[in-house]
Amino acid sequence: MNDCIFCKIIAGEIPSAVIWEDGDVFAFKDINPQSPVHFLVVPKKHISNLMETDEKDEALLGKLLNTAQRLASQLGCEDRGARFVINCKSDGAQTVDHLHVHVLGGRKLGWPPG
Ligand code: 5GP
Ligand code: ZN
Repeated sequence: MNDCIFCKIIAGEIPSAVIWEDGDVFAFKDINPQSPVHFLVVPKKHISNLMETDEKDEALLGKLLNTAQRLASQLGCEDRGARFVINCKSDGAQTVDHLHVHVLGGRKLGWPPG
C-alpha cells in the first residue's frame, strides 16, 4: 500500500490533474488518455481491486459509480454517453493495484475489447 501510485496521487505526493475530491473518492485525468475524455475515479482508502470488496463496501462502490457518471456528464458526455470500466487483476488487464473506475468518452468506442 505504501508503494501504491494512486495512494500517492491521492495524498498529493505525485501530481495529477484533479477533477473531483471529497471525503471518500478522488478523480483525476488518466496520464495516458485513450479518448478525449479519460479520467479515473478511485476510493481514497486503498482497496487493491474489485475482488477485494464485499457487502461493507456497497455504499462506497455506489458512490464511485455515481461520481463517475456525474463527472462524465459535467465533462460533456451526458448526451452521447461514455464507457465506465473496472479492470480487475491479471485477466482483466489491471496494471495499478488500487481499485479504479475508468471513464472514457468523447468518441465512439468499439466493442468487444481485445
Ligand atoms: P488499469 O490498466 O490498471 O486499469 O489502468 C491504470 C491506468 O492508470 C492506466 O490507464 C494508466 O495510464 C493510468 N496511470 C498509471 N500511472 C499513472 C499516473 O502516475 N498518473 C495518472 N494520472 N494516471 C496513471
Ligand atoms: Zn492505493
